[in-house]
Order: sequence, then structure tokens, then C-alpha cells
Amino acid sequence: TERTYIMIKPDGVQRGHVGEIISRFEKKGMVLKALKTYQCPKAVAEEHYKDLSSKPFFGDLVNYICSGPVVAMIWEGPGVVKSARLLIGATNPLESAPGTIRGDLAVEVGRNVIHGSDSVESAEREIELWFGDKAGV
Ligand code: ATP
Ligand code: MG
Repeated sequence: TERTYIMIKPDGVQRGHVGEIISRFEKKGMVLKALKTYQCPKAVAEEHYKDLSSKPFFGDLVNYICSGPVVAMIWEGPGVVKSARLLIGATNPLESAPGTIRGDLAVEVGRNVIHGSDSVESAEREIELWFGDKAGV
């Protein structure tokens, strides 16, 4: 079954949105396969977002992801990669539709609450990066 990597970013954790976000994925019918809180070292955030390393906001992005604990999750279900991205909404919360997680909970692109893998290949890479061999999933 298809899997995706979902991460509640430090702002989402600090603002107390963990329960609401998990509830939205559960209501959709996705299956939670793994979950942990994690204070990530910069090297992991840099590896996760390596495709964006040439962007001017890359340093701020890495600092943001490492600014507090994240909630790292693996969710499973049919078409879950795309389905999760639809629940999450557009990258810039000012363009995310109301009803999406970012559309409802965020206003800043640099504080947009949640990450979701953008392809099946990215999902498998990110699951390996954040959970490695020890996740048992
Ligand atoms: P994510 O990968 O976090 O799920 P995304 O796939 O919607 O987000 P990406 O293009 O992969 O968008 O960008 C990764 C993250 O980089 C964004 O979620 C956002 O936090 C940050 N980011 C993207 N564009 C900008 C920007 N113009 N200014 C500041 N931060 C940005
Ligand atoms: Mg992305």
C-alpha cells in the first residue's frame, strides 16, 4: 500500500494543532503507521529539503524546521501521497483553500504548519531519512 511522510512542523506543535491535524487524516480514512516527536539536527533538515538548497530562504527554512520538536509520521492508504497534499493545501497559506490545513491554520509561507511528500519516490526517501531501519514499518 502507498505510504507518505507527513510532518507537523514546530509551529504546528507549539500552537497545539497536533490533535486536529491527526484527526483530519484519520477522518479521511488514512492509516497511521508510525509517529514520533523529534528535535531534528540541522543535517537532517538540510537533507530533507536538499532540492531547495539553492533557494534564498533555505537557511531560514532549516532553522525553522529545527526550531522545536516536530511530529514525524508515516500514513498509509490508496493514493495517500496526493490525497495528503490535497488535505494540506497550497504551499503559501494565503493561496491555500479554506478547508485545507494550511488554509485554515496558517498565514505565512515560512510558518506553514505541515509537510507532506510530493511523490511516491520522495515519500520513500523521506521515510528512510526520518525513520530509518528502526521504525519497524
Ligand atoms: P513542504 O515540502 O514543506 O511540504 P511544499 O511541498 O508545499 O512544502 P516546497 O516548494 O517543497 O513546498 O517548499 C518547502 C518549504 O519551504 C515550504 O513548505 C515553506 O515552508 C518553505 N518555502 C517555500 N517557498 C518559500 C518562500 N518563497 N519563502 C519562504 N519559505 C518558503
Ligand atoms: Mg515540498
